[in-house]
Amino acid sequence: MAITNQLKERSNNSCELCSEQDENLMAYAVPPRTNDSTDNEVALCNNCFSQISQSNYSDTNHWRCLTGSIWSEAPAVQALSYKILSKIKTEDWAAEALESVALEESVINWANAEDEIAAAKVVHKDAYGIELASGDTVILTQNLNVKGANFIAPKGTIVRKIKVVPDNAEQVEGKIEGDTIVILTKFVRKSTV
Ligand SMILES: [Zn+2]
Repeated sequence: MAITNQLKERSNNSCELCSEQDENLMAYAVPPRTNDSTDNEVALCNNCFSQISQSNYSDTNHWRCLTGSIWSEAPAVQALSYKILSKIKTEDWAAEALESVALEESVINWANAEDEIAAAKVVHKDAYGIELASGDTVILTQNLNVKGANFIAPKGTIVRKIKVVPDNAEQVEGKIEGDTIVILTKFVRKSTV
């Protein structure tokens, strides 16, 4: 997306993340917001833009620039910097930058929004394709070797009040004989009672 004069001015014609001077800066709207307002946008150089659009943050050295950009006054730049730092927070310096900065809650929510939307799309289905939700009761469709607890939960075991695992569509958690265990959705059938 072409960059508006307003964004040109704010960015001083350089990438708002890595400060690279670039004549062809692009206006990147930080998702889930769109390009309908400059306030949603960050001026990016080609290099930053292409890594972000591929969700490829493996070049952590490049992203050290975020320890500076996160202090920007523009909420969009804060949100994007926070978001990328969160993806590489196994790097000590990234974790430190996240801890040292105090951002508005609205900015942090913005930074996390895209991942939360994606997580909400994870749908859990039982062995027959019926949707499962936390609180449901399921029945095991085969004997289940409970790792660590050293017993086999027989086929037909009823597991009440399961919890779906938010980021994994193939797993639910449930209590069997007092132990909370992870159960694969393909081995359960939703109970209607
Ligand atoms: Zn850049």
